[in-house]
Amino acid sequence: MNPFRIHVLGCGSALPTLQHYASSQVVEIREKLFMIDCGEGTQIQLRRSHIHFSKLLAVFISHLHGDHCFGLLGMISSFGMTGRTAPLHIYGPADLGAMLKQGLDYFCHGLEFDVVFHAVDTEQSAVIFEDKSLTVETIPLQHRVPCCGFLFREKPMLPHIRRDMIDFHHIPISQINNIKMGADWIDADGKIIPNARLTTPATPSRSYAYCSDTRYMSHLHRMISGVSTLYHESTYASDNEGRARLYYHSTSRQAAIVARDAHVGKLLLGHYSARYNDETRLLHEAQEVFPNSYLTKEGAVFDV
Ligand SMILES: [Zn+2]
Ligand SMILES: [Zn+2]
Repeated sequence: MNPFRIHVLGCGSALPTLQHYASSQVVEIREKLFMIDCGEGTQIQLRRSHIHFSKLLAVFISHLHGDHCFGLLGMISSFGMTGRTAPLHIYGPADLGAMLKQGLDYFCHGLEFDVVFHAVDTEQSAVIFEDKSLTVETIPLQHRVPCCGFLFREKPMLPHIRRDMIDFHHIPISQINNIKMGADWIDADGKIIPNARLTTPATPSRSYAYCSDTRYMSHLHRMISGVSTLYHESTYASDNEGRARLYYHSTSRQAAIVARDAHVGKLLLGHYSARYNDETRLLHEAQEVFPNSYLTKEGAVFDV
């Protein structure tokens, strides 16, 4: 199967710690690389993860808090020193456009590649990126500033060809695509071979939802129903639920409630408050509600 993986570059929150980098992930899907959030130090983490700078097509910024975007300018500046020529697309809240332009004009003049900014409406869900195999949709979130998550979906795949049946009926290669698209086959005697005998069902499409930063949203599960993998911020443990509500963050238990209600395949936790030296408690509180929960950490790679 084609790879669809999440590389965790940073999963801490706003205050620096010696354990975690600020938020950033790379989504690897069929040879293409997309970044979500770009906290300070992300480019060092890219190096550590042996991810090729040049393969990064786009960066999606959830919101304009420093722990999600302070690494962007430095990373773009470094790309300029590595001979990049392919355009880099940046998706984020509208205010990022002017800040980015000012920063690029001052620090990064003479770049040999284009930085193309796409303003994202954080209040409405919309498809903001599409190519032949993938779409990316926004997920409106509730935070102290305009903020949205991102939902990466593989497009539906074509059914698999049954090689034995193709050989048996002497079907020419030129017809394989039609059969994948659903055509029956009529053999030399005029007999119809139904498509269902020539193919096996397509591999189910996979999907990944990234939700950070956000208050617990009781309706969020409807927007991400059935995704294969969900990353949901889990800044606090349950005893800090009041603080989570006040600062528009979530507890790991609340992340698990969203995962359970959305019937996701697995839940990844992150954006840990600096107060926790060990996040095991966050994991256990999530697993009580949704057993298939995992802690993210720098350098970890998860199959979607
Ligand atoms: Zn944050
Ligand atoms: Zn934030």
